[in-house]
Amino acid sequence: MESRLRIGIGQDLHRLQPGGKLVLAGVVVSDAMSAVAHSDGDVVLHALVDAILGGLGLGDIGEHFRNDDPRWRGAESRVFVEQAMRWLRERGGHVVNVDVTVLAERPKLSSKKQAMAECVRELTGCPNVNVKAGTNEGCDAVGRGEAIAATVAVLLDCGGSL
Ligand code: MG
Repeated sequence: MESRLRIGIGQDLHRLQPGGKLVLAGVVVSDAMSAVAHSDGDVVLHALVDAILGGLGLGDIGEHFRNDDPRWRGAESRVFVEQAMRWLRERGGHVVNVDVTVLAERPKLSSKKQAMAECVRELTGCPNVNVKAGTNEGCDAVGRGEAIAATVAVLLDCGGSL
């Protein structure tokens, strides 16, 4: 019998700029910097959407939520996750676990990881969420503090829809 399990992976990176609010996994982690983006620039939720879409075989975030669409200007990225979750649930599926890695030289994220995980649990309806945070050891744009990046892996149980 064919497995109902599907793995998905998503990656995102945004440049950082001084001022504004930096949002990661729906949590404001800094009010001294922000992501350069059309939406709120939440790299964790963008990577999460791509991971869910990947598991479902539904392409990528840019196809569904174009970055030149005025509807998404300044949008909270949770709306993209909510839509991806609707597509999963319409197929009778659910999220089995979520594993998040954020790479940022600044701000320091260790005290924010639990709040970020809780937000991802709420958005996905999945209790098994892990958030890891690291730096890039001073290398490349992330290491110089010019950008922030996230990778998200999800395991989906696609229910009876496959
Ligand atoms: Mg993005």
